[in-house]
Amino acid sequence: MILTRYIRQPRYLYLAAIVAIAIIAGGAGSVARAETFASFLKGVEREALTRGITKATLNQAFRGLTPDPNMDRLTKRQPELVKPIGGYIERRANGGMLKTGRRKLKGVSRTMKAIERTYGVDPYVVVAIWGMETGYGGGIGTSDVFRSLATLGWKRYRGDFFIGELLDALTILQQEGITRKQMVGSWAGAMGQTQFIPSSFLKYAVDFDKDGKRNLWKSRADALASTANYLSQKGWQAGQPWGVPVTLPTGYKRNVETLGWKQWKVRGVKPADGSRFPTKGTATLFFPAGAEGPAFLITPNYEVIRDYNSSDAYSLSAGLLANRLRGRKRFVTKWPTDKTLNKAQRMKVQELLVRRGHSVPNRTGRILKGVRLAIRDFQHSKGLVADGYPDRELLRQLSR
Ligand code: CA
Repeated sequence: MILTRYIRQPRYLYLAAIVAIAIIAGGAGSVARAETFASFLKGVEREALTRGITKATLNQAFRGLTPDPNMDRLTKRQPELVKPIGGYIERRANGGMLKTGRRKLKGVSRTMKAIERTYGVDPYVVVAIWGMETGYGGGIGTSDVFRSLATLGWKRYRGDFFIGELLDALTILQQEGITRKQMVGSWAGAMGQTQFIPSSFLKYAVDFDKDGKRNLWKSRADALASTANYLSQKGWQAGQPWGVPVTLPTGYKRNVETLGWKQWKVRGVKPADGSRFPTKGTATLFFPAGAEGPAFLITPNYEVIRDYNSSDAYSLSAGLLANRLRGRKRFVTKWPTDKTLNKAQRMKVQELLVRRGHSVPNRTGRILKGVRLAIRDFQHSKGLVADGYPDRELLRQLSR
């Protein structure tokens, strides 16, 4: 779960107010500038105590805690967001990831069957996410979760989001019978083999191996089942694929729309990976690299994967890797090498769409389904190919 899926949660807003008031009361003229790391921690401690966190837990979590000096550099990185999508997907859905995944499947086949029975989620997608997040448990991160979250919270990275995560991490430390030393994670506080942030851990983590602890670091069964539970709670529909790469008939009008699988078949749209369309349900035509690139039919399950990580590069990689792991043929295609828009440009697209009266579900640069539909409608109104894809040409048209 990378940062792009984080959403500001209203329940933490009042926390920021508490901390801010504490700082102002401490005599500071400017809120953020005057706050030392120590006074930030004091504010968090006061809030934690009201939530039933004990002094012993706080001592354990905050003893000797210093801010992470690397954090500014780390928060400025944007790995998969500006590179062409094709190379990223090819690397992750094939090659070493696939080879290692095939080997790892053998060790988790019983867990996968139990997960499918319990949660109705495609277990290959779960294993693919396991691969994408930590290389199948190989790279779970070594950062002190409390140090990471406290630094991000102190710096107000993403507003007050990480203050809430820090409080949830304290709850986990107190409830789950683990030590601070065991609570390691990514630089941004994502924990365990499938990288749960603390709020997701509290909501979705499960003790699947029944040893009395939700241990996403050491227990593969717990980590995989927790991911399955997450996908299930987010609305995974059993019996539906996440999507299917497709070939379109010659001359097909490449417009984004949603139809039943049967209607797609009638229109001559065919699976490009040797699979078959389901008989029930609907799917939406999707061009992850624009109308010149490959086409997919995606289902609501694709949006569920995107909830885990909001990038299309990630979600398509996970989906295609899952298909390869289940034994499906390699999906061979040519991806356009043109660079996608960067975050600032995507935000500009959203701003311009809003200015033209289109309904846009977020203004953060994330091109989720609703944004693609708004793009499609704009393209449609201009007589352009309505592929729902934000590229330079779209930005140019919108800027006119
Ligand atoms: Ca367990």
